[in-house]
Amino acid sequence: MFDLLITNAHIIDGTGQPGFHGEVGILDGRISYVAHTPKTVSEHEAEAPHESRARQMIDAHDQVVVPGFIDLHSHADFSIMADPAAQTQLRQGVTTALVGNCGSSPFPARSVTQIQRDNAHLDAEFTAEWTGARGYSEAVDDVGPGINIALQVGLSSIRSYVIGSNDAAPDSQQLDAMKRQIVEAAEAGVYGFSSGLIYAPGMYSQPKEVAALVAEAAESDLLYSTHMRNESHSLLAAVDEAIDAATAAGARLEISHLKAMGPENYGLPALALERIEKARDGGLDVKADVYPYTASSTRLTSRLPGYAMDGGQEALLEQLSDPVQRSKIAGDMAARFGKDIDPEGVVIAALGSGDTDHDYTWAIGESIAQIGRKEGCTAEEAAMRLLSAHGASVGIVNHAMAPEDVAKVLSHPLVSVASDGWTLRPKGEGMPHPRSFGTFVRVLGKYVREEGLITLEEAVRKMTSQPAERLRLEDRGVISQGKVADLAIFDADSVRENSTFDDPWQLASGVSTVLVAGNLAVNEGEVASERHGTVLRKR
Ligand SMILES: [Zn+2]
Ligand SMILES: [Zn+2]
Repeated sequence: MFDLLITNAHIIDGTGQPGFHGEVGILDGRISYVAHTPKTVSEHEAEAPHESRARQMIDAHDQVVVPGFIDLHSHADFSIMADPAAQTQLRQGVTTALVGNCGSSPFPARSVTQIQRDNAHLDAEFTAEWTGARGYSEAVDDVGPGINIALQVGLSSIRSYVIGSNDAAPDSQQLDAMKRQIVEAAEAGVYGFSSGLIYAPGMYSQPKEVAALVAEAAESDLLYSTHMRNESHSLLAAVDEAIDAATAAGARLEISHLKAMGPENYGLPALALERIEKARDGGLDVKADVYPYTASSTRLTSRLPGYAMDGGQEALLEQLSDPVQRSKIAGDMAARFGKDIDPEGVVIAALGSGDTDHDYTWAIGESIAQIGRKEGCTAEEAAMRLLSAHGASVGIVNHAMAPEDVAKVLSHPLVSVASDGWTLRPKGEGMPHPRSFGTFVRVLGKYVREEGLITLEEAVRKMTSQPAERLRLEDRGVISQGKVADLAIFDADSVRENSTFDDPWQLASGVSTVLVAGNLAVNEGEVASERHGTVLRKR
């Protein structure tokens, strides 16, 4: 007898194979039975045997049953403790998130409070203390997350811990200490090592240093995920840097959120994909991921010249209080306008706690160009004012990509779907990027159903077996006997995003059921109060 039996299902198993009508049986948290069944079964025939077959039945009514989606690119590590329910993810069918991306992880930590402050734009809120990956994992498990969390350790976090936030190269002792942090995190069960080479202090790591750390990560069989050094005019050089480091190390490489920003650079993602294909032909295990939007979301400080963040946010605030230095930073930012930064497209999404005399909460949802017009100053000066008033902690949504590039990347078979979002409560403040609410269902609704860009089976593969393979998560990502019963059921005709840039606080619709390890996490479209996720630990 099964614990749970799903009948009348259109099963799409995650491998990319065509869907089929069938049943899925679950016992002890795992899939114990998958069968093709004929589509027409009379009421009588269907019901009689079922009662003795399972303790609980779900009639899928021909809805699609898929493996729970695996988000290869999440920043939920900063928000999951304050928002363990993960409703924004569960309502899309996401059951596992890989965190620690873009070089940033909540460990190693000297000061959990400082890490929380530096990541205010990710709704960072911590309720415990830790130093390393092991302590952090235990703290998340104590809270009890609604989805599974797989960890990575970030280069910027390691660098902050060992060297600080300065633009300085590590000496050999410091480099060894950084390597030891990778080994320690690997021993605690993290799945990957990430870099964010546009963010301070990771951006101060020269290619040789990054390569040495990637080699250490490869020794521990970690995935190397990279937010590359450039995503605009030097995109291809940045792809080459990532490929070279991974090739020399023998590492598995994941190119995060592949895109090109700024009209001059549109079309470059196609060339980046060619380089990825060529590297694979040469034997490198490299793939990429994408979120299905033409806007990014990040911190405003990442749009400043590198020297601005030398020494961290405190040092930036000091530089901004010096008129000469302030106009130099503003000038260097403005020099990028019309190239990879459009001041009309840089929209304020969230603000750190502010200076009460100059609070810019009114500016949330407005671009720096609009704010400048209201304040009677330039867009770059508006950016400086916001940073000064809000502790240099300003989150932005940045409209900068071409829809054709997004479609090109999304449809490529080597590319997985990933959100670059985090867990949010259903209602909140600010104007967060809709990707936290809608990435996966947007692909299913807009790109599969409405535009026919890719098939439903292919979209599901990009959300399940492909990310699982990247992580070597052997017991997740496909529907087959023996796998963990992380599953989602949705109506392919109505599944959709509701969150938009103008009205982001909207949960997805169309996903009726989500199981996490065989437990009902979403039932009849509503998130259950009990939470069943766990921190996954790589063995
Ligand atoms: Zn990134
Ligand atoms: Zn990211």
